Amino acid sequence: MTHDGDLKQFGDVAGVLIRNEWIPNGRRLDVMNPSTGEVLASVSTGDASTVDLAVAAATEAFPAWRDTTGAERALLLRRIAQGVSDKREVLVRLQSLNNGKPLEEAGFDVDDVISTFEYYAGLAEALDARQDTPVALPSSEFTARLRHEPCGVVGLIVPWNFPMVTTAGKLAPALAAGCTVVLKPSEVTPLPELELARIILEQGLPAGVLNIVSGTGIEVGEPIALHPGIAKVSFTGSNAVGIQVMQRAASTVKNVSLELGGKSPLVVLEDADLELAVELACSGGYFNAGQMCSATSRVLVAEGILDAFMVKFVDRVRAIQVGDPFAPGTEMGPLVSKAQYERVLAHIDRGVTSGARLITGGERSAASARGFFVQPTIFTDVPEDSDLWNKEIFGPVVCVRGFSTEEEAISAANKTEFGLVATVVSANAEAASRVANAIQAGMVWINAPQVVFPQTAWGGYKQSSIGRELGPWGLASFQELKHVVVAS
Ligand code: NAD
Repeated sequence: MTHDGDLKQFGDVAGVLIRNEWIPNGRRLDVMNPSTGEVLASVSTGDASTVDLAVAAATEAFPAWRDTTGAERALLLRRIAQGVSDKREVLVRLQSLNNGKPLEEAGFDVDDVISTFEYYAGLAEALDARQDTPVALPSSEFTARLRHEPCGVVGLIVPWNFPMVTTAGKLAPALAAGCTVVLKPSEVTPLPELELARIILEQGLPAGVLNIVSGTGIEVGEPIALHPGIAKVSFTGSNAVGIQVMQRAASTVKNVSLELGGKSPLVVLEDADLELAVELACSGGYFNAGQMCSATSRVLVAEGILDAFMVKFVDRVRAIQVGDPFAPGTEMGPLVSKAQYERVLAHIDRGVTSGARLITGGERSAASARGFFVQPTIFTDVPEDSDLWNKEIFGPVVCVRGFSTEEEAISAANKTEFGLVATVVSANAEAASRVANAIQAGMVWINAPQVVFPQTAWGGYKQSSIGRELGPWGLASFQELKHVVVAS
């Protein structure tokens, strides 16, 4: 399949799946190619009444799915992992086409999806042995057993920056736990999820276990958060919308998991390998064009090496190849949408007005006359109270500042309403550990790129999250605990 071939194969795409039937009619939404600004596909979408139908289907399917064994669900999850692996290239190209990320980055995404389904297959299998485990009690008059039960019909709402990865991080544990699902993909990037769903159906998932309602946040997301038939909502997206989801979910005391924004630090200690520090600052700041909740957009560098770091960092950032995500050698694609492109350029303008010093970038990229390309951008001398230093920009914009002591670095790293991730670069293992332990974040990498394994928890402190995804914690977030206590 060629790049152009990909473009031609779309047209009208069914975006609503209920009881394993694709519903092609109804409302429609144009999906864009961010590299060209052209319409890629017209996707059928739903509204509150469609969410009602999806919840009804998921409710009907729940008892039989709940009563399957963990081993049976594991078999299906492994088949899904294999199905995704068989269609890897199609999914990689779709991800690049709809999201704009370079092919290599899209490949990492699909590999993450595969490993997530494989991992939760293992946990589903292990569930059978953990079911009805005896609980030691301090009394011979009673016995007790512990059950892990699926929490019911769950609503999954996902963003556009890592579409299939975020979906897999919710869907695989939800299915492993025995929940049935109503999924809302991002209206900006529904195509990868819809293809993933086709692959999942081919593996024999019973009707009604996975239902999809594409559409906007207001028309579909809100009805999911409000729906009394949904037991739990797992949401990834912006803080503003996360707060709304929590408020809507409160009306039925729904369980919620939220994965929200970040403004994460990368701390470079005095003894750091400068080449490594520059590479990690580049990947932490500009991977996925900086559209990462985990972007390390605040770089804190020991004053003794700040000048040397800046020389190398600026050179490397100016050399980043921006362009067509399908072209060999491209390191950074466009932003995902016109709205995001305009938002990021407005942030940059406000940053300049705030008195920050623009070192490189700051404008539309000349890489392409079409599409939503922004130059990789660096600021220094950023006022501590500016939006540039404090707000999530979600674009290729990194701010650099010096520090004189380890305590000052830790204090600056933690002075944020967020706490998702951090990176520490140092040749001194003890100092790096000390700083890592003192930073309030759910994940800290030391001298490492932002590797995420399904085995490690994903989520953060403060306003970055409620709960944790991935690992056994991701599975537990879709389960209810039940103790059955019996008189002997
Ligand atoms: P967004 O909040 O605009 O949208 C996220 C999802 O919520 C979309 O599917 C959207 O349609 C839906 N939505 C919008 N309004 C809604 C409403 N009123 N009720 C219910 N659903 C609604 O976020 P985005 O722009 O798609 O994604 C970027 C944001 O996501 C960033 O803030 C980023 O930090 C965050 N994010 C966080 C993580 C994490 O793991 N912490 C991962 C990826 C992205």
